[in-house]
Amino acid sequence: MQDKIGNKQIAGISLAITCMALRCFCCIWTPVQTPGEHNLRRNRKIKIVATLGPSSNDYNVIRKLYEAGADVFRLNMSHGTHDDIAARHAIVRQIEADTDSHIGILADLQGPKLRVGVFERDVEELIEGAPFRLDLDPTPGSVGRVQLPHPEIFAALEPGSNLLVNDGKIQLKVETCGGDFAECSVVIGGTISNRKGVNVPDVVLPLAALSDKDRADLEFALELGVDWLALSFVQRPEDVIEARELAKGRAAILSKIEKPAAVDAFDSILKVSDGVMVARGDLGVELPVQCVPPIQKRLIRACRAAAKPVIVATQMMESMIESPIPTRAEVSDVAAAIYEGADAVMLSAESAAGQYPVEAVTTMNNVAEEVETDPTYRAVIEASRQAKRESVADGIVAAAREIAETTDIKAIVCYTQSGTTGTLVARERPRVPIIAMTSHRKTARRLALTWGTQCILTVDLTRFKQAVVNSAKAAREFNYADEDDQILVTAGVPFNTPGTTNILRVAPCNEKLIYSTDPE
Ligand code: PGA
Ligand code: MN
Repeated sequence: MQDKIGNKQIAGISLAITCMALRCFCCIWTPVQTPGEHNLRRNRKIKIVATLGPSSNDYNVIRKLYEAGADVFRLNMSHGTHDDIAARHAIVRQIEADTDSHIGILADLQGPKLRVGVFERDVEELIEGAPFRLDLDPTPGSVGRVQLPHPEIFAALEPGSNLLVNDGKIQLKVETCGGDFAECSVVIGGTISNRKGVNVPDVVLPLAALSDKDRADLEFALELGVDWLALSFVQRPEDVIEARELAKGRAAILSKIEKPAAVDAFDSILKVSDGVMVARGDLGVELPVQCVPPIQKRLIRACRAAAKPVIVATQMMESMIESPIPTRAEVSDVAAAIYEGADAVMLSAESAAGQYPVEAVTTMNNVAEEVETDPTYRAVIEASRQAKRESVADGIVAAAREIAETTDIKAIVCYTQSGTTGTLVARERPRVPIIAMTSHRKTARRLALTWGTQCILTVDLTRFKQAVVNSAKAAREFNYADEDDQILVTAGVPFNTPGTTNILRVAPCNEKLIYSTDPE
């Protein structure tokens, strides 16, 4: 009897010891990503999006763009073949693997962009006051007419409607129109040539948000595994919902705001989007150019309040397509977007088709580093914070920033599955670095677009103490903190239930201290 009990006790004790050992083993050795040899840490909060194209087609140039500061690469589906796009996508993923980083890839769908047909002589000069006819006839055009192969547009036009051709350089006014033609007069003349783009600002176009080409491109890009899908010429929230249904969670959806209708319906478009682009190129054609800066400011504020990333795009470093140095006005424009609190600034032709793609990224990076260390920048960012306290998570991220700024905290580390908590912390625009810990590579790549957020991969967890240990380890390994520093850790317990952020812990970075102070 005695012996039996003794044996049981011994068995019980040894089981307990084994369990403890296993637990310790799990706590200390739960895998967390470690910095690779080529991993780069950025010295800025704003992110840089670089469009790829003929000037940035090979591994070496794209790697240099990454090293110079590009966090997200944009594949423009309006240009290049599917083979070109697939090759660029593969190169970015290769660089990501070679540098142990998380790089976002954004596929930009062309959307319902209207274009005229072709001209018999390829180019014509339209003179102010002259008549010019648009119709459905595919016969090559002349100085008096050209095809506009979109019957829906003729149905929507009215006498007095304005049509803008070639980035708004030519203005036509509709005099009379019918189901298959519009007789116009030339208000502002200029050069028109084959397949130039046409904008119809005053009309909500009865066009499907996604053309057949867009649907094919969407499926192709999602199959490749892009992280973000940008929709051009969004007009209504339904356009975004339609794309979301096709994407089936494979990519996050970003709405490009470049139509007056989208500016009017912005709040409802933002609700159904994961991110936004202030697409200033077409926006400045569809609306008077002077309307662009106030809209940019309004959109940035609304996106920050909604904790959704916003990109400021187009002509940011336009002169660097041909020149190794930017104009002062361009530097000022990039700086303005940073002061306004945008999540990202973007390069289009500068990196895709220009002569100085790497210099353009370097310049943006330098402007960001300079602006973000300006005390005025901090003052502006703090003053533009809009308190939003609707959920527990809102309260926790606000408290995290508050504590981090009251005491000497080296980083805010947040556990995030979907990325939502990461974007909520970013909305606070804290001074200290934001480290997003996630077990989903997809989330890490999407967050490449979010202000100030660096992602580190970790395995799925079941206990909060593991989260603290992993956070401390990651903060030390990536040089955000030393053994005797403190960090903040936020997480949602139980783990693996999205949207449950409910813990905020000020934690030491020293494992021995974690073990002596941390509850289970
Ligand atoms: P795009 O979009 O470069 O695809 O036209 C951006 C913009 O219009 O500004
Ligand atoms: Mn555009």
